[in-house]
Amino acid sequence: MPRRATKRGAERTPLSGDVDVLICGASFAGLAVARELAGAGAEVLMIDRYEIGERQTSACGIPTDWLKALDLMGSFRQEFPELVVHTPHGTARYDLPFTFSTFDYPALCSLLDDQNDARFETAKVNGRTGNTVHTDRGDITAPLIVDGLGWRRMLAGDEGFQPPDAPLSRGLEVHPFGSSGDLEIWIDRRYVPAGYGWSFPADDEIRIGVGSFDPRFHVKGTTVLLAEDLGSEAVRYQGNWIPHQLRPATADGIFFAGDSAGHCLPLTAEGIRTALYFGIALGRELRAVVEQRSTRSRALARYHAFSAGHEWKYRAMLGAQRLVPRIPPRLLGPAVRAMGAKRFIDWSFGHYFDVANPAFALASPAPLPSRTKLRAVA
Ligand SMILES: Cc1cc2nc3c(=O)[nH]c(=O)nc-3n(C[C@H](O)[C@H](O)[C@H](O)COP(=O)(O)OP(=O)(O)OC[C@H]3O[C@@H](n4cnc5c(N)ncnc54)[C@H](O)[C@@H]3O)c2cc1C
Repeated sequence: MPRRATKRGAERTPLSGDVDVLICGASFAGLAVARELAGAGAEVLMIDRYEIGERQTSACGIPTDWLKALDLMGSFRQEFPELVVHTPHGTARYDLPFTFSTFDYPALCSLLDDQNDARFETAKVNGRTGNTVHTDRGDITAPLIVDGLGWRRMLAGDEGFQPPDAPLSRGLEVHPFGSSGDLEIWIDRRYVPAGYGWSFPADDEIRIGVGSFDPRFHVKGTTVLLAEDLGSEAVRYQGNWIPHQLRPATADGIFFAGDSAGHCLPLTAEGIRTALYFGIALGRELRAVVEQRSTRSRALARYHAFSAGHEWKYRAMLGAQRLVPRIPPRLLGPAVRAMGAKRFIDWSFGHYFDVANPAFALASPAPLPSRTKLRAVA
């Protein structure tokens, strides 16, 4: 059972007031925004319903260079130079032009959190009126508000974003103890008609799961089946909805980053590095505002345009997401093997990598040398 660190009951004292920047959600997107605001001299408040790193939200696989670029190798678990792709009619090993790594979620969040000087409070966001966010501990007002709350896109102010009608995929995984040397995926209708299964080893545990592009397909039974097929126990579940369509990155004066903006990539459901990438881009725009080099309306326009400038890449990947399940299984095996040619892998994965290249992070200001938290003792 995860340790409950979040304040409960009488410890949950009122929280209200005005700040310069309010970041709602303290996972990949929110922490990346906060990092870029470090040292800007603004009063930044970050809130989440859980303590930072308390609730793992993914299999935690990412290109290794992102861990290096953000100085997060302290969270590293295991590295993979190859991707193993299984179909009912054969297996291919892709020699990747970059490596993927798995990491430890609490460790990564803690290391990333060390790179900001924001104040953090646990509070559940219930909604918003104008520039005021309503939480279970009170109302907080800010001219600059970030929604890094994940797929619900809670602060959009419209009727919301609900499965199964919204453009969402469904993902579930189990975390049995064990080890393996391969990063593996299964494109196999035995596990999911449209989507894929995965096994991401992370040192002493394996993250085995199934993702369905169709939100109506329930993945629990086939997640258990895949775990059984791999000789692993279906224990320690975690799952969530995964957006697979880009959404406007600003709306009604609010900035959205990560899953709230649909920044997770279609087809692969890779959403960590994109949450970091767009979070960094947003943090830089907000920093320019608090340092009076820009204005709120200019930041809204620039960040909106930056995110929308990636739309064609998201559309292309969504097209592939719709195409792959339509390929008859007997053709899929040979197609997957043919795509394993080194030149094709370097070209296709190179473009895929460039959708959110870690070089973007390296241009950011150096993180603070030491922890300079202003955490409030509530
Ligand atoms: C099973 C599964 C496996 C995945 N594996 C991978 C993978 O290996 N690699 C990869 O790149 N992507 C993976 N993804 C996708 C990835 O998890 C997301 O794209 C990524 O987590 C998005 O980051 P985020 O910061 O936008 O949102 P999230 O990580 O979802 O964080 C949202 C934060 O907001 C907080 N929050 C939510 N609602 C409220 C509220 N009302 N009040 C206060 N706080 C709130 C949450 O506690 C959380 O901390 C996976 C997804 C799933 C479901």
